[in-house]
Amino acid sequence: MSGTHAAPGRHIVVVGAGIAGLAAAHRLLELGARVTVLEASDRVGGKLLPGEIAGARVDLGAESLLARRPEAVGLAREVGLADRLQPPATASASLWTRGALHPMPKGHVMGVPGTAEALAGVLSDEGLARIGRDAALPRTEVGDDVAVGEYVAARVGREVVDRLVEPLLGGVYAGDAYRISMRSAVPQLFEAARTHTSLTEAVRGIQAGSAAAQQAGPVFMGIAGGVGTLPLAVAESVRARGAEILTGTPVTGLRREPEDGWRVVAGDRVLHADAVVVAVPAPAAAALLRAEAPGAAAELAGVEYASMALITLAYRRAETALPDGSGFLVPPVDGHTIKAATFASRKWAWIADENPDLAVLRTSVGRHGETEILGRDDDGLVDVSRHDLKAAVGLDATPVATRVTRWQDGLPQYPVGHHARVARVREHLASLAGLAVCGAAYDGVGVPACIASAYAAADQIHGDPRAVRQLTDHPVQSLHGGAGE
Ligand SMILES: Cc1cc2nc3c(=O)[nH]c(=O)nc-3n(C[C@H](O)[C@H](O)[C@H](O)COP(=O)(O)OP(=O)(O)OC[C@H]3O[C@@H](n4cnc5c(N)ncnc54)[C@H](O)[C@@H]3O)c2cc1C
Repeated sequence: MSGTHAAPGRHIVVVGAGIAGLAAAHRLLELGARVTVLEASDRVGGKLLPGEIAGARVDLGAESLLARRPEAVGLAREVGLADRLQPPATASASLWTRGALHPMPKGHVMGVPGTAEALAGVLSDEGLARIGRDAALPRTEVGDDVAVGEYVAARVGREVVDRLVEPLLGGVYAGDAYRISMRSAVPQLFEAARTHTSLTEAVRGIQAGSAAAQQAGPVFMGIAGGVGTLPLAVAESVRARGAEILTGTPVTGLRREPEDGWRVVAGDRVLHADAVVVAVPAPAAAALLRAEAPGAAAELAGVEYASMALITLAYRRAETALPDGSGFLVPPVDGHTIKAATFASRKWAWIADENPDLAVLRTSVGRHGETEILGRDDDGLVDVSRHDLKAAVGLDATPVATRVTRWQDGLPQYPVGHHARVARVREHLASLAGLAVCGAAYDGVGVPACIASAYAAADQIHGDPRAVRQLTDHPVQSLHGGAGE
């Protein structure tokens, strides 16, 4: 990527009004630019979507913000949502495995425990014994990158991967632990693998560090009314400061002007921009960059995505006895269909307070490469959710309302070597003045990471010295808190 040292007041077009595009607009306005945001769909927010079930406000997309990094909660505060930030009422999640619910072991790092004892009941005796061998094994070299599952299995055995790492990582990336990059997805473990021989010893070190961080406040935050209200508030704020946001306006072409700047084509509308921020998913970015940056476009076209569906179910609270905690994760190895369940009205006090007679639950289905389940119709997805909820927690009541939200290509996959691909994209773009990319495809899929990449893109476009930012996601505690859905 490269910077146009744009003077204040120059016109910058942001393509995409997901949280990344909106955050870029927010930052560009702070830097004094004139901003136009072009959004293909008829609404802002992308994967952040507030909705409603049986009269209750809920999130139909992302629902939880990692608060251990500053960007998401900071942005929420800056756009007037400070008093609506709310930590989960309970963050203790369970694991539905081997026929029972087990509390998630305390202090794991993406499912890797510091001791075998922490996983008693969750793993078989052989699985527990295998963890103990970690201390005596020679070093496992990780090179430039390694799949999380491969490394963890080599150190502490496949059972830890299959029963803990997989459901936790699956919750964040909807991906496959044996493909996902440890360097990109769990940088803390990657760092630990470079500096330690024993993984469990390294995890105990990380735990000691995060025990101190616990004092610093909640790991996650929600927003009363839904995390989906964040992009709405950002949009309102940027509009109030003079930015124009055009929805229903898909950008179809991006060409450099002969002299300086960019020609942005959106159907029959053509805009001149001094610089452009491309804040769309990788396939859309590839299509837009093909003409001027074919190398970057080819790299972006290779980014794979996972699709998923969220099934929201509302029950009469009086008929809904649920176990303690915020929900549960489901390891794929157990052969169930849902991959997680969140007891939303237990997890978020604002939902319970607004709807005293309802219990709202949410399940999720779909992992990278799984197509059969998402081919089912909505009733089929509700049925399978009810079936698994009955098996897991004995919930047999009839929901008063159900709602299926499909997220086709919802989450980019970060396989081994993802960081190198992103570096190549940026190298290709370095010669293009006045163009920057941001969003979930690059430096982390979580909302704070998307916002960080947007701020960096804005700073770069505007030649701000603060452009040099640390762009590493920290999804170690699971982006989704409690149930890790
Ligand atoms: C079901 C689900 C649950 C999640 N839960 C969490 C969570 O709890 N916590 C968390 O931190 N993260 C969560 N994530 C991840 C996070 O929500 C996303 O990674 C993030 O919101 C992506 O933001 P973005 O702006 O990069 O992209 P998007 O939200 O995809 O926005 C991109 C925008 O660009 C628009 N666009 C595309 N092509 C064009 C074009 N040609 N012209 C104009 N506009 C275009 C799209 O319509 C879209 O609005 C979740 C993701 C999913 C799918």
